[in-house]
Amino acid sequence: MKRFTHIDPATVDEAVFLLGEYQGAARVIAGGSDLVGGLKDNLWMRYPQAVINLKRIPGLRDIRAEADGLHLGALATLTEVAESAAVRDGWPGLAEAAGRTGSPLLRNIGTIAGNICQENRCWYFRYPHKLGGRIDCVRKGGTRCLAVTGDHRYHSIFGAVKKCIAVNPGDTAPALVALGAVVRTSKRAIPIDGFFSAELGPQSTVLDHDEIVTEVFVPLPEKGAASAFKKIAIRKSIDFAVVNCAAAVTLVDGDVAAARICLNGVHNNPRRCEASEAVLIGRPLNEETAGEAGELAVAQARPLLMNAFKVPMARTIVADTLLACA
Ligand SMILES: Cc1cc2nc3c(=O)[nH]c(=O)nc-3n(C[C@H](O)[C@H](O)[C@H](O)COP(=O)(O)OP(=O)(O)OC[C@H]3O[C@@H](n4cnc5c(N)ncnc54)[C@H](O)[C@@H]3O)c2cc1C
Ligand code: SF4
Repeated sequence: MKRFTHIDPATVDEAVFLLGEYQGAARVIAGGSDLVGGLKDNLWMRYPQAVINLKRIPGLRDIRAEADGLHLGALATLTEVAESAAVRDGWPGLAEAAGRTGSPLLRNIGTIAGNICQENRCWYFRYPHKLGGRIDCVRKGGTRCLAVTGDHRYHSIFGAVKKCIAVNPGDTAPALVALGAVVRTSKRAIPIDGFFSAELGPQSTVLDHDEIVTEVFVPLPEKGAASAFKKIAIRKSIDFAVVNCAAAVTLVDGDVAAARICLNGVHNNPRRCEASEAVLIGRPLNEETAGEAGELAVAQARPLLMNAFKVPMARTIVADTLLACA
């Protein structure tokens, strides 16, 4: 790890001011479970001169279920989200996703905002600087993607964005997409569908360098709505998803009136399955319709040499997640 200045601002305004002063040469830290690894492995194109700690700022950790929906403070831990009676009652897909993230220790320190802002886990990108030298792939300012010709078994099955085939690894991201969340920041409210930003290059979200997530808001589910989350990982106790999926479905008189489905671990950003959603509308949710939705979710898949196995996984997990909603 290189030297950096560690600063404990007391308010969001102070933190934003500091980020502005450092002009992109500072990084925010919450639980640190992702950021500290990045600092150790010298992950970014520019090593941070300062780390701005959010944990001393009061009022950012509450979980409140109100008349309009669920308000999750940015610093609410994944354990708190997973164990909150309000979240489990009203937004079970989100509680399940938070409860399946990492290990108990990681969930105790990892926050909801850190979870949706984390970096990808591509092993070339994460290759430790100290072990034989830095690998400068496209995402680190280089010219080529090493995964395309190398080991890409866990990479995108839907092609590249800006020559990069790393996937978004988050567990709560698909649940928040399925539930139509809004990310509230120090300067604006960003609908979750527009929050992830592989298209912008070497960053995973649309956040500006001087912008902080303050709250994640999840609207109240409609009457008859249900949500679910499923994850396939190599190890059950602690692992990133090979593929995960969340769905939120509203049933009226036994037929689907609304559906939002999101796959993750399959493309650079969490992937809405819009064709799968459309095929369900006005029909009952059963094995046949869920199976059709699963087929449509992977109809555009373009797997690489080593990751074709993810296609049937994605197809099946979409169907299973929908059936869990039923
Ligand atoms: C061994 C291991 C296993 C893991 N397993 C999983 C897993 O199964 N599923 C999964 O989803 N993740 C997993 N993770 C990744 C990570 O631990 C979690 O995503 C965690 O939720 C990150 O939260 P944090 O508060 O620790 O974030 P930090 O490490 O503090 O920050 C992560 C990123 O978010 C930014 N950030 C944090 N808070 C804010 C904010 N309020 N506003 C703006 N930017 C912010 C930071 O600058 C940084 O870029 C794993 C990590 C490890 C080390
Ligand atoms: S997939 Fe992306 S992060 Fe991984 S080596 Fe290729 S460009 Fe780099």
